[in-house]
Amino acid sequence: MDNTQKMNEILPFIKQWFDENQAWITRASDTIWELAEVKFTEFGSMKVLTDIFREHGFTVKTDLVQGLPTAFTAEWSNGNGPVIATLGEYDALPGLGCEIAPEKTPTRKNGHGCGHNLLGVGSMAAALAAAKAMEHFGIHGTIKYFGCPAEEGGSGKVFMVRDGVFDGLDAVARWHPINATFVSMSPSLCKFSVRYEFHGKAAHAGVTPHLGRSALDAAILMDVGVNYLQEHMPTSVRVHSIISNGGQSPNTVPELAEIWYGVTVTVKVENGCSETLPNQVLCDRMLVNLYRVGAPLFTEEEKAFAKKMNEGLTEADKAKSLRIYGITDPEVGKLDLYDQICPEQGAGKITPYSTDSGDVSWQAPMCQMFAAAQPIGTPNHSWQQVVCAGMSIGHKGMLCAGQTIAMTALDILTDPALLQKAKQEFDAQLKRYPYTNPLPAELLPGA
Ligand SMILES: [Zn+2]
Repeated sequence: MDNTQKMNEILPFIKQWFDENQAWITRASDTIWELAEVKFTEFGSMKVLTDIFREHGFTVKTDLVQGLPTAFTAEWSNGNGPVIATLGEYDALPGLGCEIAPEKTPTRKNGHGCGHNLLGVGSMAAALAAAKAMEHFGIHGTIKYFGCPAEEGGSGKVFMVRDGVFDGLDAVARWHPINATFVSMSPSLCKFSVRYEFHGKAAHAGVTPHLGRSALDAAILMDVGVNYLQEHMPTSVRVHSIISNGGQSPNTVPELAEIWYGVTVTVKVENGCSETLPNQVLCDRMLVNLYRVGAPLFTEEEKAFAKKMNEGLTEADKAKSLRIYGITDPEVGKLDLYDQICPEQGAGKITPYSTDSGDVSWQAPMCQMFAAAQPIGTPNHSWQQVVCAGMSIGHKGMLCAGQTIAMTALDILTDPALLQKAKQEFDAQLKRYPYTNPLPAELLPGA
């Protein structure tokens, strides 16, 4: 027994709501794209979102976590029933700003290199549309949006999880802009971000090197050691480091040096996040709803724009860029924009990235989808993603994801058996692997 009949009634309502409201929804996304606020400073973006939620009768709560003033929740209830959540992000990346053009034209300002303006507004639209449908069809329950700052290098959600902001949820549906459209059962990696500071003794490097003790040598020797260690780590483990302080000048033995690791295996000091735990029952249903909504479809003009952005890439390069998500059809290399839905969910296959949504997925059953919002062949955190996040190519991915999340939330609310099955799967997982928050209790965001 599924919920098909009910959802077939709801689908045209959601489609119509998006048709009628998409003009100002895309404007809100463009406003946040223009603001391009980096982690912990997303005050303007937060205001755009919270103003809209208040206008639509949502209850907005702020001041949820110490040191995270740009976090908020917005919820709308229609009586007792399950609480379904969606996640919004709205932080940009430093220095990635670009003009909207098919070639690289940097502005030297900050930029939405991970499309989080689309992510924040698409999920917001999903919550608003779901609330309207709940009212119209008399569906009981609560839809709740989590405004999550500092996804990029701040692990905002992990602090929010640690401090109980995500307590009391029944299910979560999230998305992220990327270069293809699919539902993903593929877990991400957990991450720890650690800095090691070495202290030595300064001395003139030419005249009295025997009196100095180089902190930089210590940092380099540590890195050499870690590179030997990597041979014996599982292939899914990634270790990345930069020497964030290597001294001031070669003619002075460095007294202080620091090496900064983004490590996947060891104890953390700065921030961290858990791997994602997608829920198969909910992902299957999300895929059904993704097919109902349909893939983002692009115009010839948008395809020509994407082709220009992809200049220099071979068909093999493009096909390879999607293989990591389990999209193995070599024919996709002929395209510049992905206008299909990939049915593969990549269960059991790790995708080597980390996200603070991982920790949310350990609080309640979570499904996740990705929507095409940039050319095939262009990675995240690229100038191409900045450009597409501010134009129609990105808007189309956002509207597809918004509709799919709204439909999935309503499907869960109207199908108690589905939620029960999803919870059974989730409870069994947590029994095998209990959740531990990776952050120390006293650690403050951005510290
Ligand atoms: Zn991102």
